[in-house]
Amino acid sequence: MVESENKSSLPCSSTSLSNYFEKDHPDEEKWADCVHCGMCLEACPTYLETGQEQHSPRGRVHLIKSVAEGKLSLDEQLADPVFQCLDCRACTTACPADVDVGGLIEEARGQIREAMPLKGWRGAVSNFFLKGLFPHQNRMQTISGLLKFYQQSGVQKVIRQTGALKVMPSHLAGMESIMPEVKTSVQKKYKDIDVIPAKGTPKARVSMLTGCIMDVMFSDINESTINVLTHNDNEVVIPKSQTCCGALHVHAGDRDTGRKLAKQNIEAFKDSEKVIVNAAGCGCALKEYPELFKDNPEWKAKAEEFSGKVEDISKYLYDSGYEKPKSEIHKRITYHDACHLAHGQGVRHEPRQLLKDIPGVEYTELSNADTCCGSAGIYNLTNPEMAGAVLDRKMEHVPEDVEMISMGNPGCMLQMAMGVQKYGRRSEIVHTIQLLDWAYQKDKQANEKPATVKG
Ligand code: SF4
Ligand code: SF4
Repeated sequence: MVESENKSSLPCSSTSLSNYFEKDHPDEEKWADCVHCGMCLEACPTYLETGQEQHSPRGRVHLIKSVAEGKLSLDEQLADPVFQCLDCRACTTACPADVDVGGLIEEARGQIREAMPLKGWRGAVSNFFLKGLFPHQNRMQTISGLLKFYQQSGVQKVIRQTGALKVMPSHLAGMESIMPEVKTSVQKKYKDIDVIPAKGTPKARVSMLTGCIMDVMFSDINESTINVLTHNDNEVVIPKSQTCCGALHVHAGDRDTGRKLAKQNIEAFKDSEKVIVNAAGCGCALKEYPELFKDNPEWKAKAEEFSGKVEDISKYLYDSGYEKPKSEIHKRITYHDACHLAHGQGVRHEPRQLLKDIPGVEYTELSNADTCCGSAGIYNLTNPEMAGAVLDRKMEHVPEDVEMISMGNPGCMLQMAMGVQKYGRRSEIVHTIQLLDWAYQKDKQANEKPATVKG
């Protein structure tokens, strides 16, 4: 059962006119600084696509404020623009007044779901994934096993050859076609190891968030993260009781489940000095845990202490020092800024520097590097048309001769892989840490003495 922080479902009492519920209502302080200047409009992918004010940051702020003033109800007029938002945070970067539009959007989504819960098959699917699957490591391991069977038993090949995927909606079939090879999760692989040792004399002990989807679909990136951390003399701990970060729950308006997961993670990492994350969306969600406990001083203090320990892997390596690889990787590489890394956490320079420090890399900058790719959590599944249009705009700026596109978020990796496939490109999609790991592996092989044959 999800614990309820505040049982009130009465309209918001902070202003007598408000049509919001009291619990978790959008924070007036967040919109107070908006001067309607419109400097955020050109940064907003959904505004660029539609040209409509209600699908712009300024329009959304105005609608959210209008409900608080009793001029608008919690209905479709608010729900559509609020759920069409990618929560990409590009508007906050563009806004001279630092208006936290993303935070307002998430609070408004919670209110909309309170007033208009998802019903029928939509509600069932949402509950299955958000409550029944992602928070449960054992169930995610089962899914991992099933996917591995699907890929390795030949079933996937048969399904693809028979064209059975054509009966699926095109965006789901597209997802299946770029599904990465599922490998053993690091949670499972290291389940009997308390501390993964550093390669040399340990300089720090860090803990790692393995993520729910990350550890099923991208466990090789988790493995690379461990390799790179230990290579740079960090001991690595993987707390067993950690869970899903709750980002998808908060994006969907389910703040109660988000809080429950946040509490579990805060407890799981309470003895950690650093919490290393390799998925931008998860890292941003962990850093924003204090927002979930605004009405609970005890947990707010715990959440603030916890979020201060959270660090993206690229920033941690850059700040704590890392060995520059010696082996060369001769590739033309570009970098896509995951929204929740660049706009959400302000991490831009560090991953680029990691790439540029690999000898042989020919780095090229994307002209729209920090524009959303349309992934946005599960937005590409819930809003496939808009996500596709946003992806098209992204791909228009990717040079054709780029051999690799690097990034720091698994959702973006899947979406950009769809873009590469759609546009018939040959670029490989990689996580920045995979490239660094690859360079270290090459160093290791170069240092290994060839086996000698005794005569
Ligand atoms: S959100 Fe910021 S940039 Fe956009 S209209 Fe308001 S003040 Fe201007
Ligand atoms: S978060 Fe992104 S999609 Fe939403 S209003 Fe801001 S710029 Fe537009």
